[in-house]
Amino acid sequence: SRRDNAPDAFWMPFTPMRAFRQAPLLFERAEGMHYITPDGRRVLDGMAGLWCVNAGHGQARITEAIRAAAGRLDFVSSFKMSHPGAQAYAARLADFAPEGIDHVFFVNSGSEAVDTALKIARAYHQARGQAGRTKLIGRAKGYHGMGWGGLSVSGIGRHKAAFGPLLPDVAHLPLPYDRASMAFSRGRPEGGLAAAEALETLLQIHDPATVAAVIVEPVTGSGGVYPPPKGYLERLRAICDQHGILLIFDEVITGFGRLGSPFAAQAYGVRPDLMSCAKGMTNGAVPMGGVLVAGHVYDAFMAGPPEAIELLHGYTYSAHPLACAAGLATLDVFAEQDILGQLGKALPLWEERAHRLKGAAHVVDIRTAGLLCAIDLAPRPGADGARGGETNTLCLDAGVLIRNAGDTLVLSPPLVIAPAEIEEIFTTIEQALGRIG
Ligand code: PMP
Repeated sequence: SRRDNAPDAFWMPFTPMRAFRQAPLLFERAEGMHYITPDGRRVLDGMAGLWCVNAGHGQARITEAIRAAAGRLDFVSSFKMSHPGAQAYAARLADFAPEGIDHVFFVNSGSEAVDTALKIARAYHQARGQAGRTKLIGRAKGYHGMGWGGLSVSGIGRHKAAFGPLLPDVAHLPLPYDRASMAFSRGRPEGGLAAAEALETLLQIHDPATVAAVIVEPVTGSGGVYPPPKGYLERLRAICDQHGILLIFDEVITGFGRLGSPFAAQAYGVRPDLMSCAKGMTNGAVPMGGVLVAGHVYDAFMAGPPEAIELLHGYTYSAHPLACAAGLATLDVFAEQDILGQLGKALPLWEERAHRLKGAAHVVDIRTAGLLCAIDLAPRPGADGARGGETNTLCLDAGVLIRNAGDTLVLSPPLVIAPAEIEEIFTTIEQALGRIG
């Protein structure tokens, strides 16, 4: 039973090296849409692991590719060396990415990808003789990992509070979401053009000639799944262009199919200058991240002084052979199994079924974007987060793994979800909501 296997903790900051203080929830195996506990219980994975196992668990082609790579080449440095797997994967990524984004800097996680993207943005301006452009602009509720740069541009205060002082010269845009007018909108709410004017307002306080980059998640993920209102990203792009500011999309969650397109950039038809990605890159099977950059960013480095590119040195495990093999195999799986085509068929039901929770107990807002969903619950007076946590526990008892950020329930299942599994997730949540006080 769940009680034997997982008393209270779904989240373990440290893995105890001697005795367990709180037992974690143990999963021994995974296949397709399910995790399997050591005692054989199957749990429907409503989170694709942690927004990463996009093509479903246990994809044989990916496992085989990792095995073969491990037998071939255990390690090679990315300093003046490389290997055919890295080159093949980079070339395939360029085809998968939006037109014009054709170079990748390999790293090992989303946090590294964000910090590296921010460094590239500053170095880009420096290489072009604009060393005064150092300021970074993030956004409220933005999540950009746990590195110092990502934390600095993050818009989630509780993640940052214990670690200050963070980077100076960082400003934040407001979240382009107004509960009063946008709650329960299906798809993208209206009003993006006006919301994006917040950037112009910010640039009246911060001289645009001092700003290096704006970084946003196209769809706010960990902060609670907020899709961009119509016209918003387009307007951010235009304002950045007007002032010579780089636009970075943090696509760690939205990349690799989550919105029904390879990246959010294609889904929304807006091309950033840099994209950070990770998670779905290797289908979660091997740690990997990447910064994808547009040709003009790459060219500025190459035309700049040699130190510019040399100072941006990589990590020991950049372009690791196992990760490149897993990444290449993931793109093969996307193509051969038509993951995006399948998802396109599932999305209307996903959105329709999610929004049928309107009117369920405690629900005050529902947002969907691609195969993402957030359900906001009214907090129980005096007990913020309790309803979210209790709903999460009841769902797990009923065999469905979801996530809650306080009183916001979050869903991000593998993209290969079947109609019956969509139904199972939302029915289970509905029943759980009916049981909590
Ligand atoms: N950026 C975004 C948008 C993310 O969602 C995450 C992880 N949830 C990160 C960065 C950090 O990625 P990682 O945990 O791989 O460092």
